[in-house]
Amino acid sequence: MMTTDETPIPENPKAAFVAVIGAPNTGKSTLINRAVGTKVSIVSPKVQTTRTRVLGIMMQGDSQLIFVDTPGIFQPSKRLDRAMVAAAWSGAEDADNLLLLIDAGRGIDGNTGRIIDALIERGVRCDAVINKTDSVRKPQLLELAAALSEKGIFDQIYMISALTGEGVDDLIQALADGAPKGPWMFPPDQASDMPERNLAAEITREQLFRQLHQELPYALTVETESWEERADGSIAVAQIIFVERESQRAIVLGKGGQRIRTIGTASRLELSEILECKVHLNLFVKVREKWGDDPERYGLWGLDFNA
Ligand code: GDP
Ligand code: MG
Repeated sequence: MMTTDETPIPENPKAAFVAVIGAPNTGKSTLINRAVGTKVSIVSPKVQTTRTRVLGIMMQGDSQLIFVDTPGIFQPSKRLDRAMVAAAWSGAEDADNLLLLIDAGRGIDGNTGRIIDALIERGVRCDAVINKTDSVRKPQLLELAAALSEKGIFDQIYMISALTGEGVDDLIQALADGAPKGPWMFPPDQASDMPERNLAAEITREQLFRQLHQELPYALTVETESWEERADGSIAVAQIIFVERESQRAIVLGKGGQRIRTIGTASRLELSEILECKVHLNLFVKVREKWGDDPERYGLWGLDFNA
C-alpha cells in the first residue's frame, strides 16, 4: 500500500455498490448507519420513511463499499408507491451486491415473501441477511436460515444484529473481500454523497415523523433554505417545512407553537452532535398547495428558536 501524508491510496483499489433491499422496518437504514459509522440515512420505528436513495460510503482495507439504501420494496398500491418500488428495483439491479434484509422475528412474511418471489421471477441472485438476531432464539434462526436456503437464490446467508453490531464486521469483511477491482468512486473521507444541507433536512423530517405520528401530513417536505458557517464556529441553518393546507400548518405548529419548538430543539441537538459544533436552527412552516407553485404567495410563518 502506497500512502500520502494524509490519505492511504491502495495500489489495487476495489469498489462495490451494495444495494440493501428488504421489507419496510427490517433494519436497512440501521445497518447502513452502523456500517458507515455516521448518520446518513433515516432510522425510524415507523414504516416508509426513506423516500430517496442515500449512499453510505465506507472503507475496508483496499475496498470502498458504497451502500445504497433503497426505499422499501413492497406491494405497490398508490401511484407514489409504485414509483418507490421502481426506484428500489433500479437501485438493486445496478449494484454489485444485493443484500436482502429479513427481520428474524417476522421471517418470510408477506412482504419479504413477495420480494423473494420477485427475485426468483427476475432470476436475480443475492445474499440474505437475517437481521435482529438479538430478538429471537437460536432454533428459530436456524429454521429461518434453512427455509431461505431452500429458496435457491441466496449465495450467502448472514446473521446479524444491526442494532448491537453482532455479525456486522464479518458481513462487511466478506463484501470487501468480494468487491471487484476498480478505482474508488468517492474520496475516502466522504461518508455520504448527500450534501449536509440535505442531511439536515432529513433530520428535521425524521423528528416530524417521530413527533407527529399518524397526524403527519403525507405530502410534507423539508428544505434547507440557508446555511451559514459563522466566525465563532457555529452554523446557522434555516429550514422550511412545506405542507399543503392551513390545517396541516396548524398541526405542525401545535398549540402556541409548542410542537414545532420541540421538533426544532430535537433536530438542532441532533444536528449539532453530527456536525460537532453549535447549531442555530430556524424552522418555518409554509403552505405550498399542489397546484400553486409559488410558495411566496402564502407568506412566511415561523418561529426562531435561538434568537
Ligand atoms: P428500514 O425501514 O428497513 O430502514 O428499518 P430501520 O433501520 O428504520 O429500522 C426499523 C426498526 O427496527 C427501528 O426501530 C430499529 O431500531 C429496529 N432495528 C433495526 N435493526 C435492529 C436489530 O438488529 N435488532 C433489533 N432488536 N431492532 C432493530
Ligand atoms: Mg430505512
